[in-house]
Amino acid sequence: MQRFVMTGDYHTHTFYSDGTSSIEDNVIVAIEQGLKEIGITDHGFNHVSGGIKRTDIPKMREEINNLQQKYPQIKILLGIEANLLNYNGDVDLTEDDIKSLDYVILGIHKLTFGKGVKGSFRFNLRNFFWDTLKHRRKITQSYIKAMERYPIKVIVHPNYATGCDVAGLAKACAEKGVLIEFNGKRIYFDDQEMQTLIDSDAKFIIGSDAHRATNVGKCMLQYEFLKNYNFPLDRIVNIKYNE
Ligand SMILES: [Zn+2]
Ligand SMILES: [Zn+2]
Repeated sequence: MQRFVMTGDYHTHTFYSDGTSSIEDNVIVAIEQGLKEIGITDHGFNHVSGGIKRTDIPKMREEINNLQQKYPQIKILLGIEANLLNYNGDVDLTEDDIKSLDYVILGIHKLTFGKGVKGSFRFNLRNFFWDTLKHRRKITQSYIKAMERYPIKVIVHPNYATGCDVAGLAKACAEKGVLIEFNGKRIYFDDQEMQTLIDSDAKFIIGSDAHRATNVGKCMLQYEFLKNYNFPLDRIVNIKYNE
């Protein structure tokens, strides 16, 4: 399989959530890595240990506007890694939040404040302990409902925190034009799921999920993994071949 590098990294964290670097640190590494675009996607508001505050959004936007002037060679985007909150497809975003952001990526995380204590408790508990086929189907339906209600660009790290029906998710993502992420921190698909993804019509994206700037734009883990499957690289939207 041809070697590749990323052209844009649309999944990076800063110290506004649980990362350890500043937005500028991420931008500098992105430029060093030769990226054309970088997205800052800190954790959404209902993430228990690392969610940003709504008042951070205007601060982050102002910082990005200033950095954009300082570093015109790269496009800097403000996104968010929103949280799927329950089986109904509720996501921790309001209309106003969406308007103030450039894009949204969506994931499930281990502990989120849901809608109401009871619903949230049950959802989190099931994600921890009831990884059944029925649960996975419900999770997938929930992703689909969320995609219908919110302008989601990417489903990040499917199968993290709780499993899903990868075939059902890939079909829905293909229909709705939502990308499926290969995550830079860990691999979340087994052999059978990889075959399902290859056989689907879905498109993919690589995200570093960098929690410190040094990891921005790096995709060695995904390269080594995808090589095993001779993955069709033309279906990954943010890479170019490294001659
Ligand atoms: Zn995540
Ligand atoms: Zn992340």
